Amino acid sequence: MPAFAIGVDLGGTNLRVAAVDESGKLLEKVTSGTEVAKGRDHVIDAMTTVIRDIASKFASVGPLAGIGVGVPGIIDMRTGMLRESPNLPGWHDYPVQDEIEKRLKAPVVLENDANAAALGEKWLGAARDWPSMCMLTLGTGVGGGIVLDGQVWRGMTGMAAELGHICVDPNGPPCGCGSRGCVEQYASATAVKRMAMEMIASGQAPELERAAKGNVEFSAKVVYQMAVQGDAAAQQIFQQVGWALGIVIADLVNIFNAPMYVIGGGVSSAWEAFAPTMLGELRKRSFVYAATTPGEIHGQTGATIVTRALLGSDAGLYGAARLPLAAAARRAVRTA
Ligand SMILES: [Zn+2]
Repeated sequence: MPAFAIGVDLGGTNLRVAAVDESGKLLEKVTSGTEVAKGRDHVIDAMTTVIRDIASKFASVGPLAGIGVGVPGIIDMRTGMLRESPNLPGWHDYPVQDEIEKRLKAPVVLENDANAAALGEKWLGAARDWPSMCMLTLGTGVGGGIVLDGQVWRGMTGMAAELGHICVDPNGPPCGCGSRGCVEQYASATAVKRMAMEMIASGQAPELERAAKGNVEFSAKVVYQMAVQGDAAAQQIFQQVGWALGIVIADLVNIFNAPMYVIGGGVSSAWEAFAPTMLGELRKRSFVYAATTPGEIHGQTGATIVTRALLGSDAGLYGAARLPLAAAARRAVRTA
């Protein structure tokens, strides 16, 4: 049985590589910048060098199961191609899986980064005791992942679970995906900042305006701090976040009746500011949730739980490492 795997989180800004053993213990984690400007071959070379170093360091632990790589964007699981990634310009239709396998001569599994994060939370985080879960990652955009009976739901080609592009307002702000009013336009860090700028421009947010003026660091985090301090405009923005999330989670609960919905990513730190509106909206909009609200039914069995992620930015790394470990376990069962 393989004893460890390498998980990679290939972001547009950071490249993170970790060795994780089969029990989920983190053996080592290396973070470096992704030098996207130097081109994809350079990035893959730099990545494989780090992977090779870590893999040889832990060779005494046991055999390497393989390498799991989480990438932002649309991937084709059947071919291991990255079809489209807004954060990795120039990687259009690039055979990431082949390029890494060629250099390392080890099995590589490619996965969407939000799916990898969902798998990480399912394996070792908030959803570890539940067989099925949905996850929303609130970062620069909104990522989604669905795990059903322990398996990531990938759809036909690996493009499933684009939960960030579920529409909450058909006439809402235009989205990068081509649609309008996607939840990403209300619940991402980018959206929180945009909503703040809109309120400032309309003259409804004098305190936010003061905080934003000349502040290059003005961000979703600052808006959250102001909401905590009691600023009504900032609080209103996070109510919008909660409203949009409540609508989307109501849809998910009605579709899946899964026991666990996990919210991660940077904006999830503002939980206190958006959760009351989110849960209220969810209850109003999903009769399945209303029938399974925790605390109103007996015990935890049969309850629908909506909660914060536990693994922070490491969720995707753990999930990526989990993929080759699970594949190796399946191979072992077949050959036994
Ligand atoms: Zn969209």
